[in-house]
Amino acid sequence: MMSGFPIQNSPVSARDAPASIYVAPSLVAALDALSEYGAAGAPLAGGTWIMRSPIRHEPLRSHYVAIGRIAELTTVRIGGDAIEIGAAVTHAALAAALADLPEFAGLAAAARGSANPAIRAMATIGGNLATSEFAAADCVPTLLCLDADVEISGRDGRERIGLADFLAVRSTLAPGRLATRIIVPRAERKTAHARLPLRRSGDYPVAIVSLSLSVDAANRVQAARIAVGSVEPSARRWPRLEAALLGRPLDAAAAARTAAELTDEFVGRDSVDAPGWYRVSVLPGLVRRAAIAALGS
Ligand SMILES: Cc1cc2nc3c(=O)[nH]c(=O)nc-3n(C[C@H](O)[C@H](O)[C@H](O)COP(=O)(O)OP(=O)(O)OC[C@H]3O[C@@H](n4cnc5c(N)ncnc54)[C@H](O)[C@@H]3O)c2cc1C
Repeated sequence: MMSGFPIQNSPVSARDAPASIYVAPSLVAALDALSEYGAAGAPLAGGTWIMRSPIRHEPLRSHYVAIGRIAELTTVRIGGDAIEIGAAVTHAALAAALADLPEFAGLAAAARGSANPAIRAMATIGGNLATSEFAAADCVPTLLCLDADVEISGRDGRERIGLADFLAVRSTLAPGRLATRIIVPRAERKTAHARLPLRRSGDYPVAIVSLSLSVDAANRVQAARIAVGSVEPSARRWPRLEAALLGRPLDAAAAARTAAELTDEFVGRDSVDAPGWYRVSVLPGLVRRAAIAALGS
């Protein structure tokens, strides 16, 4: 089948090292390889999460299928009704592709602000959405606010599902299935992404607030999507805050006060970075920052 090659000079011990990494030249070849490896294999995108498996005391798979050289997965297509982002598009490439599209300011900020420049040059949007153990993924909350769909491909065809549904099934995707595209509808809206790293840029964020708002001529909120990341194990929308902002003029301080009244629905996750209560407590401030950014967009 594919010409797998053993890893040389791996930073992990030989006992932990995968038996092969196959660099797929095409999507068909990648899907064939993933299908043949079954549960022993997995996609390798930017590798920025996989490379830290030994630090997290997680076993590596025996076989990886590298998808970063597949042309159709590394392209951003900007259409009139939607943009289509290949799953292997890196954070850096995504930020560059969206630079002139104000309606995607939030997504561009997420892609531009995650981790550090070296990681952003490698980490992919598909890897960001697919990593179920990674609560602090920046692109997830912002794409939840943009009503994004995810295309999943296998040897037997393709299907398209909403991002929230994808998040619910991502840890149980059948072997041989690959997220291949993220489809984001275009609309007139104000979007923003606010994150709080503990010390400085490069840290995982303690909490993230992304939002997407449509306002009328009097600046009253007509539609609101607000999502929170890094606070709970998986990012999710904040429907009570969305509803509370509807019909009111967009005012950052007032939005933060309303958020403070509604944070009780979040159960923050404790970790070595930050206790759960702290993650929840910073949400009103992040709502304020995101609203200010949206007002300026
Ligand atoms: C020190 C450090 C700090 C970081 N900080 C941040 C941060 O603050 N915010 C942030 O968003 N990111 C951050 N990252 C990057 C983060 O690891 C990536 O955003 C992402 O979670 C993994 O993307 P990847 O392309 O490297 O995936 P990989 O490591 O290649 O894969 C991760 C997992 O996803 C699976 N996978 C990958 N692509 C697909 C696909 N198309 N379909 C199905 N499954 C797939 C793999 O099999 C694997 O299980 C950081 C990374 C490091 C090392």
